[in-house]
Amino acid sequence: RFISFEGGEGMGKSTQARLLANFLEGRGLNAVLTREPGGTPGAEAIRTLLLHPPGEGWEAEAEALLFAAARSDHVARLIRPAIREGSWVICDRYLDSSRAYQGRAGQLGDAAVRQLHTIGSHGLLPDATIVLRASADHVQERLRARDGDETDAIGGRDDSYHLAVNSAFEAFASEEPDRFRIIDGEGTVEEVHQRVLAALSPMLPE
Ligand code: C5P
Repeated sequence: RFISFEGGEGMGKSTQARLLANFLEGRGLNAVLTREPGGTPGAEAIRTLLLHPPGEGWEAEAEALLFAAARSDHVARLIRPAIREGSWVICDRYLDSSRAYQGRAGQLGDAAVRQLHTIGSHGLLPDATIVLRASADHVQERLRARDGDETDAIGGRDDSYHLAVNSAFEAFASEEPDRFRIIDGEGTVEEVHQRVLAALSPMLPE
């Protein structure tokens, strides 16, 4: 099984991905917790290049290609083999992030990003994708709270960029309702975790 977590910045995706992996381990299953960009040594090296670009920052196509290159290594070396061994793979971001960030909020558009990531993903789609959603006010509050912490974020993006990312995820979810589950990301960590479990319950072991 392959589950991805998606959403804008500061939604608590990493925390929720970890809690789901812990839950599955608690049920005696093998769970592999991983993230994008990253997850393998090569893809983590690309992550560093993306988050700390040399010079004036990446040109849009080059940036999208780096995300696709990182994904390709990640799928081939970690995600596919883990699924084959029967593990559950829980991934903090996957190709829908590329569709939302580079495709919709950025300049590339759907068609170019689809082309790049058909190659980058080796055609592998998650069985389920959790989108953590919050109100625009809540998103702006979280972005402001995170402003001082730029160590793990790509800079130079304004609020409208981040709002475009969030609405892109909602649009994808309505296009593919079978794969996506939209979860209210407001509330305590435990409340959100319970919502995630409820949304995935048909797939989860007893
Ligand atoms: O989710 P996380 O904070 O680890 O993401 C790292 C950074 O990479 C974030 O700033 C996010 O906006 C960015 N990102 C992106 N395009 C993607 C995936 C992540 O710009 N496809």
